[in-house]
Amino acid sequence: MQLRIYNTLTKQKELFEPRIEGAISLYVCGVTVYDYSHVGHARVYVFFDVVQRALRAMGYHVRYVRNFTDVDDKIIRRALENREDCGSLTTRFIAAFHDDMRALDCEDPDVEPLVTTHIPEIVEMIEQIVARGHAYVVPSEYASTDSTATNHDVYFDVARFPAYGALSGRSQDDNQDGASDRVSHDARKRSQADFALWKAAKPGEPQWDSPWGKGRPGWHIECSAMSCKHLGQDFDLHGGGKDLIFPHHDNEIAQSKAANGGGFAHGWMHLGFLTIDSEKMSKSLGNFFTIRDVLARFHPQALRFFLLTTHYLHPQNFSDKALEEATRRVLGVYEKLAAADAVLAGRQPTGNGVLVPTIGEEPSLVTESRRELLEALADDFSTPRALAALSEPMNALGAALLKPKAAGNLEIISHVRALAAQAGQLLGVFQHDPATIVAQILEGARQRLFPQGSDTLEQVEALLQARAQARLDKDWGRADELRGQLAQLGVEIRDSKDGSTWRPLLAEVGA
Ligand SMILES: [Zn+2]
Repeated sequence: MQLRIYNTLTKQKELFEPRIEGAISLYVCGVTVYDYSHVGHARVYVFFDVVQRALRAMGYHVRYVRNFTDVDDKIIRRALENREDCGSLTTRFIAAFHDDMRALDCEDPDVEPLVTTHIPEIVEMIEQIVARGHAYVVPSEYASTDSTATNHDVYFDVARFPAYGALSGRSQDDNQDGASDRVSHDARKRSQADFALWKAAKPGEPQWDSPWGKGRPGWHIECSAMSCKHLGQDFDLHGGGKDLIFPHHDNEIAQSKAANGGGFAHGWMHLGFLTIDSEKMSKSLGNFFTIRDVLARFHPQALRFFLLTTHYLHPQNFSDKALEEATRRVLGVYEKLAAADAVLAGRQPTGNGVLVPTIGEEPSLVTESRRELLEALADDFSTPRALAALSEPMNALGAALLKPKAAGNLEIISHVRALAAQAGQLLGVFQHDPATIVAQILEGARQRLFPQGSDTLEQVEALLQARAQARLDKDWGRADELRGQLAQLGVEIRDSKDGSTWRPLLAEVGA
């Protein structure tokens, strides 16, 4: 199957050919660990988790590297505010990030390098850049704490790298203007667009020895040095959010090529922004959600499913409504899978946790769906298309479950169940025990419906009792009226010959 990927560098979807046949190296810029990660991060890392899962399923040997930025201005500032040292702050937030990723079923990358454990590699790369005339050293504007030595800053000389800005498409003039708008003028820099490779130590900051005195790395150099160490001077794919194209990724390209003349990343993948209720997510607007804020209210499988419903290149809008809709759809699938498991119990063996279809021949709609699922992922990782590929088999499963004993239905149930398990491994949704997820989603929906301290639950119980009485009295008109009132409160009634049960109404929102 041909793999096609949109490359930010060439601005087109290209046939992707790895540098080494059968192997793909992938570097994704990680988080700066000074706070909890937000849902925008969840979008990026869930997507690249699907990328690595899909590439492995296509038979590639994948080496996936995702770094942690564990020294940076924001970390230093936050540690100072908290009166804790930077190391304890970053250790806590690395652990929190891992918890968030595991909740979202993101598999661990092969390597998760830290800046603080790669200082020698970073220093060596800066030395190469300086030696090749692409960077210059200037004395620090801060007095050295050690009177015998002066600390220095090292700046990348943008003017000496004519190809600078190729990824973002910015010209050297744009860079001059942009840079002078944003930062205060620094007379020590040859051009205001020049950026720091090494920052001279300021009092009280984490610092390391270097040929330029005490200091710490600038932000961009870490990814150049760590990708080179773990993937080599040339590698296949580099990714991150769109916000990283400029300056971070333009700077990475300039540094890496200036240091070693290599090709650096061949393909560049960038995700569109996640907006909240159609606005940019920001703390000042009060619409900033951490992953854990969202997971306190919605099931992780619903969040993961939601994040896969929009193609990664496009912007995606996050809202409670969209999460409720994702919850309803995920619940619908898991309920069918739970029912399928009940029908198949004892009839279909399982192997390595994956259901093995053994009942009859595979129905063609399952074969077609699997082909479409894999093709969608090979076509620039189109997760919405991959999810859509499952809808027809799911409908067939629903129909077959109504009459499991009818001819051919057991085959459909068995094979759609196996397809869901395969899709689950590729996409990271629908691969859990269905009955458990159904129970968790309904419990979460109950808690959203009846938050602590609300008196809705008492109202609902009174209406349920009244309705049970109306049914005993065979007053069907009254029973229907009460069903309507319960629906208004977000409660759905399910009547069967064994009596009535209720559950939170997961409303259909849009299509
Ligand atoms: Zn990076």
